[in-house]
Amino acid sequence: MTISYEKFNLKEVINASGRMTILGVSKVSENVLAAQKFGGEHFFEMSELSIQTGAYLAKLLNVEDAQVVSSASAGIAQSVAALIGEGSVYHAYHPYTDKITKREIILPKGHNVDYGTPVEVMVEQGGGQVVEAGYANMCSPEHIEMMITNQTAAILYIKSHHTVQKSMLSVEEAAAVAKKYNLPLVVDAAAEEDLFKYIEAGADLVIYSGAKAIEGPSAGLVIGKKTYIEWIRLQGKGIGRAMKIGKDNILGFTQAVEDYVKNGSESGDSMNERLAPFIADLNQIKNIEAKVVQDGAGREIYRASIKVNGLKSAKEVIKELKAESPAIYTREYQANNGIIEFDIRSVNEAEMNKIVARLTAIMK
Ligand SMILES: *Cc1c(COP(=O)(O)O)cnc(C)c1O
Repeated sequence: MTISYEKFNLKEVINASGRMTILGVSKVSENVLAAQKFGGEHFFEMSELSIQTGAYLAKLLNVEDAQVVSSASAGIAQSVAALIGEGSVYHAYHPYTDKITKREIILPKGHNVDYGTPVEVMVEQGGGQVVEAGYANMCSPEHIEMMITNQTAAILYIKSHHTVQKSMLSVEEAAAVAKKYNLPLVVDAAAEEDLFKYIEAGADLVIYSGAKAIEGPSAGLVIGKKTYIEWIRLQGKGIGRAMKIGKDNILGFTQAVEDYVKNGSESGDSMNERLAPFIADLNQIKNIEAKVVQDGAGREIYRASIKVNGLKSAKEVIKELKAESPAIYTREYQANNGIIEFDIRSVNEAEMNKIVARLTAIMK
């Protein structure tokens, strides 16, 4: 039997919710699949594969060096371990040894979030100890400075919609503090779209997630200073082994970064164009009013927003959309106000038609 949803008794899923880890994040392109296939069907000198794909990506991204890792989380843990061990092989073999005490990682308190896993868990996996700076609602450069001791190994900055946004220092400000005290600055930009600006802002290491904005296979990317990247590679002899990435995904992800840098993500105009017939169809459905809305955080993302009227509540409709195969997942944040949003970045025309058919049946 070939692969199918039925083989494992699974529901087909239409993902109109955005880049969600619980649904597998994103779909990869034919180009990326071809690179994964080449990886799956051939052997490589693995250490060369790691170094050379890193060098290729570094050139593309205009940085000293880069390392493909298994996830952004692995990138955090291995960056922390690298900056604590500073290239020591003894440390790679004994990552949690008492003989090394310089383990403090300063993190703005409002950045100590849970993105599905608490940031702190990944720091501790890398052998670091989180030292929070500032308060839940504010962190200034001075707040970071006052937490620096001779046990500080690095400053960590989380650039994400998950964090507190107001009254937080900028990446540039964090970089200025790091520079003043001769400390490395690590930026976790896992879900961010810009692969250049945090390095340009002065970060020493920047971490991205493979399947989020970049739409690659399961992977992560760390870019930055050559010495630090070499220290990260050394973790492959230690904690990195439990976070190993396969040759198929190293090649697939490298292709995904190349395509992403060349083509970017889908433009707002393209989304609006694809949304127009979908909105028209949705407006034909009884008790539904549909319109296009822009992303709340002002990103160039446009979505279909429907207001559910009549006897069924938005929450009931959301539940029924998920109940059958294909299970249709939407953005549920405004369900309390009777609103359901459809993010179409990973939804094609055929799937939009299935959504319309299913909603028509639900609203009958
Ligand atoms: C998603 C995310 C991560 C983890 O990425 P993975 O590649 O799934 O490990 C880390 N940090 C932030 C801010 C994230 O949004």
